[in-house]
Amino acid sequence: MGWDAGDIVATMSVTSPDSLDAALAALADNPAAHVLAGGTDMMVELNFGRRSPAPVVSVGRIPELRGIDVDRSARFVRLGAAVTFSEFLASEAASQAPALAQAARTVGSLQIRNAGTFGGNLATCSPAGDTLPVLVALSATVELASRDGRRRVPVEEFMVGPKRSALKPGEIVAGVTVPIIDGWQGFATVGTRNAMVIAVCNAALVVDRHDRSVRLAMGSVGPTILRAPEAESVAARMLFGAEPTSARADLLVEFERRASAAVSPIDDQRSTADYRRHAVGVIARRLLDRASREMP
Ligand SMILES: Cc1cc2nc3c(=O)[nH]c(=O)nc-3n(C[C@H](O)[C@H](O)[C@H](O)COP(=O)(O)OP(=O)(O)OC[C@H]3O[C@@H](n4cnc5c(N)ncnc54)[C@H](O)[C@@H]3O)c2cc1C
Repeated sequence: MGWDAGDIVATMSVTSPDSLDAALAALADNPAAHVLAGGTDMMVELNFGRRSPAPVVSVGRIPELRGIDVDRSARFVRLGAAVTFSEFLASEAASQAPALAQAARTVGSLQIRNAGTFGGNLATCSPAGDTLPVLVALSATVELASRDGRRRVPVEEFMVGPKRSALKPGEIVAGVTVPIIDGWQGFATVGTRNAMVIAVCNAALVVDRHDRSVRLAMGSVGPTILRAPEAESVAARMLFGAEPTSARADLLVEFERRASAAVSPIDDQRSTADYRRHAVGVIARRLLDRASREMP
């Protein structure tokens, strides 16, 4: 869209601090300021007039938010909030959290993955955000920083509603810590086409061989990412119980039914609630089927 003579072009002030402390000070000095990372969500909001062009604190170049750490002995991966999807995919962390890599690979297009960040996906807190079901299924922890100090919040508590998070004024997402799981993990999504589309529904399944547990997290089928404890217990029975192989097909059907029953989707421009409920059960079942065949 071009500019016509007479368009009012709003100006906004942008600060680009070079340390987390400086960014937190800038936010404390100006509580109305917006944090900007890759801008792939924020610029859409500005362009559609859904957000005012308030001062912006740009965090994309802050070294403390840009790190990717893999600690094999403590068994976790830590991603700084300003790490882009492309940077993560090119790092060794991707192989330690394969479901997160599958989700990151589906985000937007190469250009969006080059700019969009994990911190932005978390802070936008859309129920359709692609990394979010994986972070929930992996029991990730979000690190928040403010001038008052740091706190760590389980990702399930960080998300409090559609596009609403536990971020307090003056706080910045500093990073996210993801456990390295011994078992199987996978992500699946349904969209109206293969790329550049927000999920109609998505799901992540994580099988932890160590504690013999299964976690299913589903997105775009409720106000936040939803778990399905009853489906998870069916899956754990199927993978770790003494069920005969002949019961496998019935358990998969039961798992799908319970996954669908756990969601509360809405009708919107992308899908009907009924289709979402059906589709998320199908992708959940396919993930469990794959887990049962592929788990080492
Ligand atoms: C064409 C297109 C396709 C897309 N496709 C997908 C997709 O397939 N899947 C998907 O999940 N998303 C998709 N998105 C949405 C977007 O790319 C992601 O949500 C991305 O992760 C946002 O990150 P960002 O760094 O660009 O955030 P920004 O736009 O910079 O910020 C988004 C929000 O987060 C806040 N924020 C950012 N970083 C921090 C921080 N460190 N601390 C506190 N608050 C912060 C900002 O204030 C703002 O409210 C798409 C967007 C576009 C434009």
